[in-house]
Amino acid sequence: MIKLESKCPEGALAQKWTSYKDSQKLVNPANKRKLEIIVVGTGLAGAAAAASFGELGFKVKIFTLLDSPRRAHSIAAQGGINAAKNYPNDGDSVYRLFYDTIKGGDYRAREANVYRLAEVSNAIIDQCVAQGVPFAREYSGLLDNRSFGGALVSRTFYARGQTGQQLLLGAYGALSKEIHNGSVKMYTRQEMLDLVIVDGRARGIITRNLVTGELERHAAHAVVVATGGYGNVFFLSTNAMNSNGSAAWRSYKRGALFANPSFTQIHPTCIPVHGEYQSKLTLMSESLRNDGRIWVPKKKEDAQKIQKGTLKPTEILEDDRDYFLERRYPAFGNLVPRDVASRASKERCDAGYGVGNTGLAVYLDFKDAIQRLGLEKIKARYGNLFQMYEKIVDENPYETPMMIFPAVHYTMGGLWVDYELQTTIPGLFAAGEANFSDHGANRLGASALMQGLSDGYFVLPYTIQNYLADQINVPFISTDQPAFDTAEKDVKEQLQKLLAIKGNKTVDTFHRKLGHIMWDHVGMARNKEGLQKAIEMIRKLRDEFWKDVKIPGDLNGKNAELEKAWRLADYLEMGELMARDALERNESCGGHFREEYQTPEGEALRDDKNFTNVFVWEWKGTDAVPEKSIEPLNYEFIEVKTRNYKE
Ligand SMILES: Cc1cc2nc3c(=O)[nH]c(=O)nc-3n(C[C@H](O)[C@H](O)[C@H](O)COP(=O)(O)OP(=O)(O)OC[C@H]3O[C@@H](n4cnc5c(N)ncnc54)[C@H](O)[C@@H]3O)c2cc1C
Repeated sequence: MIKLESKCPEGALAQKWTSYKDSQKLVNPANKRKLEIIVVGTGLAGAAAAASFGELGFKVKIFTLLDSPRRAHSIAAQGGINAAKNYPNDGDSVYRLFYDTIKGGDYRAREANVYRLAEVSNAIIDQCVAQGVPFAREYSGLLDNRSFGGALVSRTFYARGQTGQQLLLGAYGALSKEIHNGSVKMYTRQEMLDLVIVDGRARGIITRNLVTGELERHAAHAVVVATGGYGNVFFLSTNAMNSNGSAAWRSYKRGALFANPSFTQIHPTCIPVHGEYQSKLTLMSESLRNDGRIWVPKKKEDAQKIQKGTLKPTEILEDDRDYFLERRYPAFGNLVPRDVASRASKERCDAGYGVGNTGLAVYLDFKDAIQRLGLEKIKARYGNLFQMYEKIVDENPYETPMMIFPAVHYTMGGLWVDYELQTTIPGLFAAGEANFSDHGANRLGASALMQGLSDGYFVLPYTIQNYLADQINVPFISTDQPAFDTAEKDVKEQLQKLLAIKGNKTVDTFHRKLGHIMWDHVGMARNKEGLQKAIEMIRKLRDEFWKDVKIPGDLNGKNAELEKAWRLADYLEMGELMARDALERNESCGGHFREEYQTPEGEALRDDKNFTNVFVWEWKGTDAVPEKSIEPLNYEFIEVKTRNYKE
């Protein structure tokens, strides 16, 4: 078992980050120009990091597989970004944001990292305002806040339902300035297919030019992976179709450890699945739970009539509606954290009270809010989300309640990183959703944007210097060396192997099958038998894939099926690791719900004695069992309690 050093500084919680910054090594301006950094990913984490490194004077190369940095999946983020500004004067503080995040993550995150996140949250808002991000303002001119799940205060800053887009435009502006100044070089339509390690350090990447099909080598003194989450392993998710886990997975296969892979967030408010033909799910932002009330019929016969289409929700009397979140969790009501809300919806649907023609949906109703606030106010707050809903479902949510159901949304697991956001490979850093860091077993709403920007603007610009200060005598890294030859050869061989299969089934056929296995056995509810079965099924599916996948075209030029096949090959390994991780965690916590471990009321039952820790996995070969190490989590500053959202 590997001994993991989290490198959290000693001292009082509130002093740790300050004392780190006071004592870390710095690189002088003349030396910064001699040091190169590769950033993979142009989402909020990657764009913020690259812009900040460029501004500091490092030489930066940033990569995206998309045609523009602005198309990173971060642009889809709707609801908002948290910060502890306490503008509404409702009792918020850095400590309270830290506390809510640790509690929301069901006590499975590192205290020091989470405190730092809460501490820098306010600076993120200042930075973004300075960049011109048009956060919503209230009448007096102050930035407006709304509430998100798992908090009793309003701390979420937002730009209508387009917060991610506006934040990304801000980060893109900062990045563009550095590109213009020549400190950052932008590479679009380049997919990182492998990591190159020279003498034990991350020194470069192999990319495929997605337009010409050519393989390219890129070298640097350090590499940052900011490639987002791997929720698309489930095939259907709210993630962008191009989101994928391959860069993190390839880093894992080159020796970086992977933490808590099974910790997946299933978001309660998504547009329900329509049918087998579908390849993407759409989120309805958590912000809607500020004003929307979630309910199902109290009577099963009403639910059945709705399912058959003989009764409309608007015809159900108030007394015949079960506002089940308000009933079960009076203190937090509709704003319980996502894992809790998702499970409660599933419980009602499993018990036969679900709505829609499949019975796999619950209502999110704005009738009361429209009566209370007026139609115009609701339109101003959520107009674009309502419009999106109407376009997809062909129903007017101002007149009839929205139908929603939980869907895969975010992956808390990722590359293991220490306090410096460095992986177990020296010189390889991971930021944003690609690392496992701050959200424990369940991420609170509006905290991913905060974390990505914290990592990019405020953490990595310091911590990477601590590493690079020892590299000032290392000249520019040449790509003309054996480690690059080997990595490029490995990539080429795998691409050729995929193309040579010439089977009968499309990539999507296999991916959809994997998605079913994952959703049924590694999804919202898991159990030992199902997880064991999932491991077997995934292995079988992986064998079939390597014998029967059909990929038209060749290595030259654009080949979308080849791109998808490459990513699916990784998901077929990753899915197995997720199931194994879930199987070995014999407790329920946050989004990881093992049916064997629940309270009589159906709440997650943690086993703090044995599992107050992080599972960290080491690659041992495709069909070999990976090795598990454990990072214990020591709660020095917070009392570990059972999560309670009732009182
Ligand atoms: C629909 C939706 C709404 C959301 N709303 C919110 C919200 O309101 N508030 C909140 O806090 N969070 C929200 N989230 C979560 C949040 O958006 C993400 O966690 C966050 O944006 C991830 O940012 P990132 O920079 O880590 O990665 P991403 O934005 O996913 O960026 C990844 C980048 O890596 C690139 N890339 C990936 N693989 C490769 C490769 N192999 N080679 C080269 N480039 C690669 C991509 O092209 C992209 O540029 C939402 C998520 C979804 C799905």
